[in-house]
Amino acid sequence: MKIIVAIDGFSSCGKSTLAKQLATELGYSYVDTGAMYRAVTLYFIRNQVDLFHPDQVLNALSNIAIEFKPSHGKPGQETYLNGENIEHEIRVNPRIASAVSDISALSDVRRFLVKQQQAYGNNKGIVMDGRDIGTVVFPQAELKLFITADSKVRAQRRLEELIEKGQSTTFEEVLANLEKRDYIDSHREDSPLMQAKDAIVLDNSCMTKEEQFDWVMKLINQKLAQANG
Ligand code: C5P
Repeated sequence: MKIIVAIDGFSSCGKSTLAKQLATELGYSYVDTGAMYRAVTLYFIRNQVDLFHPDQVLNALSNIAIEFKPSHGKPGQETYLNGENIEHEIRVNPRIASAVSDISALSDVRRFLVKQQQAYGNNKGIVMDGRDIGTVVFPQAELKLFITADSKVRAQRRLEELIEKGQSTTFEEVLANLEKRDYIDSHREDSPLMQAKDAIVLDNSCMTKEEQFDWVMKLINQKLAQANG
């Protein structure tokens, strides 16, 4: 029997890296829900959707189709918006990082995306990461992780990622964006970022990716043994 692994936590604490490693190891599918909120944000920016006009928001959502397809020549997957590969743009465009939390706070946007996310989990065998996976999307998930790390450690990791992708930015800018997103994500009314009661907390500030992976795989093996026992 397969299980659902729900991974939530603050921005840039390595949720996606961990989720991808786990999905590969288990042969499960992986869904990066942050990419879905980023895709909606890109559409809203391009089409100048006014967040204060619910009609405009609903109309825009009815024109959005998001898909994930395997990356060419490297492991993992890429995000498509209405057939266009937007993977690079949603990761590096600073306008996305600065607008995504406000757009993600809209209930209409959340309802639209949560429905698709729940459908992905119909057959279990899925690792999903985001902010509300253990609390809202899959409250029945067999394993819920809540990942955290010191904000300066997270900002440094994110800075290195952006530089690797060819962006010029500073530590201070990255840290300010992370802290702003964490604040908005944790304080919104609809599905705020919070630890599910039955989530296991993992602070990875001082852990390597390998240590984190091994630690989580032990938990998953216990859950699988319970599910199949
Ligand atoms: O995970 P990532 O940093 O790419 O997510 C970008 C933003 O999308 C978050 O800061 C948050 O505002 C929003 N998000 C969300 N719920 C999720 C996943 C992401 O609100 N499940």
